[in-house]
Amino acid sequence: MGSEPMDLPAAIASSDAGVAPDSDSGTDESTSEARATFAQLRLAPPVLDAVREAGYEYPTPIQALAIPLALRGRDLIGLAQTGTGKTAAFTLPIVHNLLGGPRRTRALILTPTRELCIQVEESFVRYSAHADVDVVAVFGGVPLEPQQEKLRAGVDVVVATPGRLIDHLERQNVVFDEIEFLVLDEADRMLDMGFAPQINRIVDQIPAYRQTLLFSATMPPEVEALSRRYLRKPIVVQVGRRSGVAQTVTHAVYPVARARKADLLVELIGQKGDMDTVLVFTRTKHGADRVVRHLESAGVEATAMHADKSQIQRMKALEQFRSGEITVLVATDIAQRGLDISGITHVINYDVPQQAEDYVHRIGRTGRAAATGDAYTFMSPDEISMVRTIERVIGQEIPRISVPGFDFGSVGTS
Ligand code: AMP
Repeated sequence: MGSEPMDLPAAIASSDAGVAPDSDSGTDESTSEARATFAQLRLAPPVLDAVREAGYEYPTPIQALAIPLALRGRDLIGLAQTGTGKTAAFTLPIVHNLLGGPRRTRALILTPTRELCIQVEESFVRYSAHADVDVVAVFGGVPLEPQQEKLRAGVDVVVATPGRLIDHLERQNVVFDEIEFLVLDEADRMLDMGFAPQINRIVDQIPAYRQTLLFSATMPPEVEALSRRYLRKPIVVQVGRRSGVAQTVTHAVYPVARARKADLLVELIGQKGDMDTVLVFTRTKHGADRVVRHLESAGVEATAMHADKSQIQRMKALEQFRSGEITVLVATDIAQRGLDISGITHVINYDVPQQAEDYVHRIGRTGRAAATGDAYTFMSPDEISMVRTIERVIGQEIPRISVPGFDFGSVGTS
């Protein structure tokens, strides 16, 4: 490492155009940025071909801002939440830079969770469909050997969660002395999860002469310290408000007695005909299992995703949800980060999140990129003040919807 102390950010580029690439609510500046084409960003033809095949018409605001800077070799801090297109914002310029280069491990992406790790790996595979780029995803909870074989055979890009990567480094399965591009993805979450020592150990093995891109939904002091340590004169690229929630999402709060939440969920799914892919968040693993049992007994296909599930079970759950085999996926916060499931119609906060930031992250699961979605929060009397805090942080009041027979305020319910 040994990067010299960082000056204050060299520049701040920002866009309030929100997450929808075709948002028409932006200022002149952000609108014109949102309308740049991928070709204008000067990405190489093989990358443009892959983007076309992905079906993207225009770069999202974070892509329009970050890609030109990344191509110029600048270090970047991208303040953007999941759902803004941030993954392509770093994947595309890296694939561009790897084109035709030597076969060495030249890029490392660190991610907090295995789900995000897999999602980023899939992005590399997709965007390098016309380029000769090998990528491996390295994460815990699965046997080490297949990853070891791939690493030893040599890959261009390593996408990894910090813990498992340390195991491989200790076994000398990979060396990082040729790394040119380092990405710290969802840096705030990695630090929240206690990965700081692992990150430091890993980055210390990477040449100081490199390009470093850091993405984070928020910029608490810990992330700032991390960027001071590892980035050189970074440009801060910000999309939307810091704690902004996807503007394509419709929010609603349902006041409901705690004991009636499961019934309300069944009621809503039955009542509304459009709840096809529903992601439900509970505070605890047991809570998630209980909700699944309740849904199943009411005839709704559901499955749970949390830390007690094996990697195989989690992948299977995700697959069933993606394919539409099951309607409801019930997850805890830890399990939700990095889930990239397009077309989620509803996110339900079965328990109100303890942190306002978690609300933003959870809601980031729906309304991704250009899609729209609904976000419902079930609020029992003891959760009223937390909902108020969330409203303050996101800067908007969430409408209350009272369902007769469920609302704790209505006559006849407790
Ligand atoms: P991310 O914020 O990286 O998790 O991406 C959110 C979703 O947006 C993913 O499903 C991407 O496939 C999709 N996406 C990324 N870039 C674009 C784009 N320029 N236009 C439309 N969708 C995009």
